[in-house]
Amino acid sequence: MKIAIIGAGISGLLTAYYLKGYADVTVYEKEADAGGLSASIAHDGIRVEKYNHFISVKDEEFIRVVSMLGLEEELQWARVKHGFILGDNLWGMNTPGELFFFSHLSWTGKIKLAKFMIKASLRSDARDLQDISARDWIEKECGKDVFRSFFEPLLEYKFTHFEDVTAAYLWARINEGKKNKIGCLRNGLDVVFGELKKQVSQKAQVLFNSPVKKIVKNDSGLWRVITNREDKLYDLVISTISIKQTSQLGPELLKITGDLNRIDYLSVSSLILAVDQPLKNGWWLFMADQGHGGKFGMRVVVDAFFIAGKNFVYFPVYQRQSQESIIEKEQLLQECFQVLKRINPGFNEAWVKKHYFFQDKFVEPVLNKNFFRLLNVLPEDSKGLYIHEAVFQEGLLKTLNTSAIKSRIIAEQIRNNDVRNNSG
Ligand SMILES: Cc1cc2nc3c(=O)[nH]c(=O)nc-3n(C[C@H](O)[C@H](O)[C@H](O)COP(=O)(O)OP(=O)(O)OC[C@H]3O[C@@H](n4cnc5c(N)ncnc54)[C@H](O)[C@@H]3O)c2cc1C
Repeated sequence: MKIAIIGAGISGLLTAYYLKGYADVTVYEKEADAGGLSASIAHDGIRVEKYNHFISVKDEEFIRVVSMLGLEEELQWARVKHGFILGDNLWGMNTPGELFFFSHLSWTGKIKLAKFMIKASLRSDARDLQDISARDWIEKECGKDVFRSFFEPLLEYKFTHFEDVTAAYLWARINEGKKNKIGCLRNGLDVVFGELKKQVSQKAQVLFNSPVKKIVKNDSGLWRVITNREDKLYDLVISTISIKQTSQLGPELLKITGDLNRIDYLSVSSLILAVDQPLKNGWWLFMADQGHGGKFGMRVVVDAFFIAGKNFVYFPVYQRQSQESIIEKEQLLQECFQVLKRINPGFNEAWVKKHYFFQDKFVEPVLNKNFFRLLNVLPEDSKGLYIHEAVFQEGLLKTLNTSAIKSRIIAEQIRNNDVRNNSG
């Protein structure tokens, strides 16, 4: 069996890893190297992820992948603190005691919030939350006060306009588990990609600088995959790019994905600052309000002080593609410096030894009611086309862990279907 995989991010390479040796697998990647959204850049003799990447202890599948690749020694964990920057105050959100002193919430709000968090953590899935908006869910469970003071900043940061975002998304975020203990690879995710490339290339082909331009189904039911260099036939195609981008690769694909072509996506613009000291010792994540003149709404600052023993500050900004305005590097840099000074008044721009700016589109779909309604009509295996993003119930958020789960599941489905077809 011949299988084409589109994309050499974590999903594409892991799916290839599970299918190598079983089928004749070719991975097509448009860029010169692997990694996709979790790719790394070279900085001062080390490799550092272009976007901030951390895992939680709940990310069991990804942790298993790290061990499977023989990289368990690379995994490191840190106890960290996170909090809100409101005005010029830093409010820690790490202990019941800190919540007790958080003056932006009433006493009844604090009690309702604590009860709600316990209840939400006991839920096993969010299927019944797909049709309810995040706002309606929280206001019903905890009241308007809690929504405004606690959850609205989170949703505003990610979506700016969040009225259509479902409770299912918020539940997944609450249960992500990345709170006071986070993990990362000592030498960055690049080591995972290095090992995956090595092991996959032994039994499969990984072609870089090979963007898939078009996919056509021929009369014998095989898929023609057309790149800038090749035109080859495959029994199956596995797409790890967004449903929307997949549908643009040919009329047959558009027919399969149907109205899913209308779903909205988030894009991201992000700064990495290489700084010569931690922003605030022991702290990891800050959610900052607009403060003094911030232009884009709530902001998140990630202080990644333990990647390869160096300090990096990430300043990622998400936008909905349907409502996008252009974010320029200089503008974001000025805004970032203002926020950093509010986090640590001693922060000085001279701390920043180098900075980088990255932007990506189709980072993740907006989980609104429309998305779930459309997704429910898309078969996961449609006439030999598998789309990672459509294997949705396996994890609502797009993370390394859910990518790893989906890769395994798609590989298992392909093997099982093959056994069934052969025995029939
Ligand atoms: C700012 C930010 C922070 C994040 N933080 C975390 C985190 O802390 N923890 C976590 O678990 N996850 C995090 N993520 C999510 C994580 O990066 C993604 O879930 C993961 O990288 C998705 O991998 P993927 O392989 O599914 O997709 P991608 O990484 O998008 O890979 C798709 C690949 O397909 C290639 N491609 C596109 N079009 C074509 C084409 N036509 N032909 C050939 N190749 C093509 C792309 O170049 C890319 O390499 C974060 C993401 C962002 C943006």
